[in-house]
Amino acid sequence: MTAITQTTWTFTCKACTIIRNVLVGAFVAMIFGERALIFSPLGTIFMKLLKMVIVPLILFSVTSGVTSIGDSNTLGRMGVKVFGYYMLTSILAILVGLSLTNLLQPGKGINFSVDSNKFDPSTLSQPNSLADVIIRMIPSNPIKAMADGEILALIFWSIVLGIAITQISDKPKKAIIKGFDYGFELMMKLTQGIIAFLPIGVFGLIINAIVNSGIDLFKVIGFYWITIAIGLSIHWLIILPLVFYSFTKINPIKHWKAMSSAFITAFSTSTSLGTLPVTMNCLKKNIGVSNKTSSFVLPLGATINMDGTALYQAVAAVFIAQTIGMDLGLGAQLTIVLTAVLASIGTAAVPGAGVIMLVIILEAISVPSAGIALILGVDRILDMLRTVTNVTGDASVAVAVASSEGELKN
Ligand code: ASP
Repeated sequence: MTAITQTTWTFTCKACTIIRNVLVGAFVAMIFGERALIFSPLGTIFMKLLKMVIVPLILFSVTSGVTSIGDSNTLGRMGVKVFGYYMLTSILAILVGLSLTNLLQPGKGINFSVDSNKFDPSTLSQPNSLADVIIRMIPSNPIKAMADGEILALIFWSIVLGIAITQISDKPKKAIIKGFDYGFELMMKLTQGIIAFLPIGVFGLIINAIVNSGIDLFKVIGFYWITIAIGLSIHWLIILPLVFYSFTKINPIKHWKAMSSAFITAFSTSTSLGTLPVTMNCLKKNIGVSNKTSSFVLPLGATINMDGTALYQAVAAVFIAQTIGMDLGLGAQLTIVLTAVLASIGTAAVPGAGVIMLVIILEAISVPSAGIALILGVDRILDMLRTVTNVTGDASVAVAVASSEGELKN
């Protein structure tokens, strides 16, 4: 008998409570509208509690993960697996998005005039160029990077710190590794305390999301919205489970159930980074993925692996081109595949960041970025859906790596 049947793969009724609170929150928001915002501080407080733990959690988890991987060969082997899986699922997501948008043509007949639109894309905070993203990965001051919440820089610092720790002499090495392991244990304890407030937090967050969802705009660009929702569902319900099963031979339904708290948190917070503590907790407690794997795979995945965002960006780019009557040829579609992979890597794992990086794709295919005005208003709920897909991708990679490293077997 394998350890997969021995591990718990729990779907506790805590998940039922959370789902119930999401539904009650949605109901309250629809009945009371803006007056329901009186409950939104519950969501804000919960988000702040989650954010409070993220920087120290990443520092301790990535460093202790790298030290427990130990030698550079294993680190390299895991790195190759992780990146291979990230790339595969992101490209599949983009292909799903592109095929659907070409098939359904949601932008045909909308006639959006960029000239007459007052929207100025420079009002969006400007995206970093991709070279910039790589340069900013290396912190000139790690303490400042932590204080500023520069997550990629923090991950880079934690990885090199972990590698350096493995190179020093035995006595201090053991003591320092122990220190980081204890630090990680402590952060996970703190995380579990915070997660106890998840049912209350999602109630406030969902009210906020629904009241500010821009539902009126659905009449105009509902078909665009539906195209993305269908694309994300295909990726979430068909593609990811198939890829997951072919790599792990584990029943995806069990995995999806065990991850349910993380999915609901992603849905209500719209941030993969904010969801990270919950994702880690589900993988560790419900599935039995080791600290070594989850510490290495998840922070990196939350920051650079975004299947849902990549799919969304591909659909949005083609949709905007369709609304201004531009036909995109094969070359432009291939450019979208490439830039969407890169843009999703560069997208910060926070609410609404996917729209900002969309500018890069639009510029690459010469579509005016002012077209973003059309889709901004309905972004919130799409953001919730794509964040669930992003977190699912990260969690699947972690289980696939754990399974290939023999962690989930006897
Ligand atoms: N909100 C998404 C995430 O955190 C990023 C995006 O805007 O697409 O994963």
